[in-house]
Amino acid sequence: MTMALELVRDKPIDQSPLAIRGLTVSYGEKPAVFSVDVSFRAGQMTAIVGPNGAGKSTLLKAALGILHPLSGQVTAFGAPLDRVRARIAYVPQRASVDWEFPARVIDVVMMGLYRDLGLLGHIRARHRARAMESLARVGMEGFASRQIGQLSGGQQQRVFLARALVQGADLYLLDEPFAGVDAATERAIIGVLKGLRDDGRTVVAVHHDLATVPAYFDRAFLLNITAIAEGPVAEVMTEANLRAAYGGRLGPAQQAV
Ligand code: ADP
Ligand code: MG
Repeated sequence: MTMALELVRDKPIDQSPLAIRGLTVSYGEKPAVFSVDVSFRAGQMTAIVGPNGAGKSTLLKAALGILHPLSGQVTAFGAPLDRVRARIAYVPQRASVDWEFPARVIDVVMMGLYRDLGLLGHIRARHRARAMESLARVGMEGFASRQIGQLSGGQQQRVFLARALVQGADLYLLDEPFAGVDAATERAIIGVLKGLRDDGRTVVAVHHDLATVPAYFDRAFLLNITAIAEGPVAEVMTEANLRAAYGGRLGPAQQAV
């Protein structure tokens, strides 16, 4: 019975951890993301690259169902998003988070466990242990009782990564994880992300610094409202593609690699 159903489907199902088809998102008249098709490769680290205002954050938010697209379809692991949410972790752009809210570091990390805890769930010793383990992975175990608002930008970013790690997700979506962090934090974060990738997880990160794309990522997705190219870094980050993405804005910090 199941076999027969599989055979009558008109299209093969994209089993990619994140597959986006015909995605158009608009805040006003002009689309911020237009007719984008992209599938991210399982077990790889992909950078989403493009100029300011290219729609990178919008694409991630629409992919997560945080924003409603004008049109398009998103599947994750071959299933509708709602069925696989627990397998997806998201680290938003740090600047978009209100860091003044009163919460201790350990509580912020345990927010990543809300699916396990349920609405009225009791936090148990094993939840705390998992949160502490995640903090240790980002070198922040000594800060569990501190207020999140009192930490440096880099420390806050590590805590947000710990919150994503504690979920034990298979797909990690990060929006500019290195923006405004110190060099030590950048090294710590890239180490954790590569560890996830080496463990078979999928990492997709909006990344601002073209110079570090080859060292940090396996693949790149160039976006400027429309999709320009996706593939292995060396094939995508060509002069012609970068010119298509950045146009006249290709400054000295954004040369082909
Ligand atoms: P990126 O992350 O690549 O810098 P964004 O996805 O944040 O780009 O933004 C894409 C475009 O959509 C920009 O022109 C931006 O000004 C606009 N935009 C983003 N968020 C909103 C919003 N909440 N309301 C209106 N316009 C927005
Ligand atoms: Mg952005």
